[in-house]
Amino acid sequence: MPSLIFRKGLDLKQAVAGMLADTYHSSIVEQIKADDFTHRAGRLTVHLAREFGFCYGVDRAVDYAYQTRERFPDRRVFLTGEIIHNPHVNDKLRAMGIRFLTDEGEHAGHLTAEDVVILPAFGVTVAMLEQFDRRGCTLIDTTCGSVLNVWKNVRRYAESGYTSIIHGKVWHEETQATASQAVRYGGAYLVVFDRPETEIVCNYIRHGGNRDAFMQCFEKAASPGFDPERNLQRIGLANQTTMLMTESLEIGEMIRAAMRDRCGEAALAEHFQAFDTICSATQDRQDAVVALLRDKPVDLMIVIGGYNSSNTVNLARMCDASRPTFHIADPDCLVSPQEIRHRPVGSKAEMVAAGWLPLDGPVSVGLTSGASTPDNLVGAAIGRLTAFCG
Ligand code: SF4
Repeated sequence: MPSLIFRKGLDLKQAVAGMLADTYHSSIVEQIKADDFTHRAGRLTVHLAREFGFCYGVDRAVDYAYQTRERFPDRRVFLTGEIIHNPHVNDKLRAMGIRFLTDEGEHAGHLTAEDVVILPAFGVTVAMLEQFDRRGCTLIDTTCGSVLNVWKNVRRYAESGYTSIIHGKVWHEETQATASQAVRYGGAYLVVFDRPETEIVCNYIRHGGNRDAFMQCFEKAASPGFDPERNLQRIGLANQTTMLMTESLEIGEMIRAAMRDRCGEAALAEHFQAFDTICSATQDRQDAVVALLRDKPVDLMIVIGGYNSSNTVNLARMCDASRPTFHIADPDCLVSPQEIRHRPVGSKAEMVAAGWLPLDGPVSVGLTSGASTPDNLVGAAIGRLTAFCG
């Protein structure tokens, strides 16, 4: 039996609103917003970015998850994996009895038609959706509208014979889901992560090359049967929604220039299409960090969000270019005025650093958080900073 799919919530918004506010709201953050995004306490000044924290897609996904628990109290409710990349939020959902198919012992093969499955904000692959459909599960689809917009572009590319080149992280669920949409509609895809990978693609576009060597570089990042000779003739660009805007634009320009060199300006439009699919929430948060770094005299930056949260990592990269920056997963990472646990930009591991906070005199801290970080964590971090500064 095909799945029953809920795409617009479960008519229980009011019923869960209080619970969501109690869990994720922060009165100190509301106060700071009202005070022109500035908090002063003794020698400490905190400048909050003007856009930070939960985006519209995450807000909706978490809301739907709470509504699902409310609507189906007696049925097994599963998430395909993390609903968003924030351990705090995921733990709250676990505590409500929502199970994660990625947890040890869980498996999509065990699902039955009685089960309810919540699809995350960044979407799922076509194969995963088909599996749930075959089992007849009830589905709560929280896929964000901005992700659906990327899928729409990729579908159009596929249907008109363009290969989708996706600037994204091949290991990220959103990019995997987007790539699967290209294949669904009979197209090919290639995922590029950064400038060096894009250089390889551009070289092949301009000069051709060794097919096998090319495919070795993109073994895990290309559609089945990808042939650079055939599949780099007509290209449509898309991005994972949470990439760094400046980098996505640069990568788009690199590929455009390579295509222009190969086919000439007159034929470019026939061989190359590009649509910026960075979502507006990501863009707003990045713009707010640029403004904060430009306008406020901050001594250091704190960026709060899951270490596997793409948009948070990119915010930290932006800050790190001009200020000492500490990407922390949780307020508890602010261990003491002497010690901080953080993941340095470019590193894969969390580490403990000493001497991160000036111990005397005025100190100005800039603060932002990723799109999957609730305000209560931001509020708690500000509380700790205030306590550290006496
Ligand atoms: S980061 Fe953007 S695409 Fe992702 S859930 Fe939020 S609004 Fe949607």
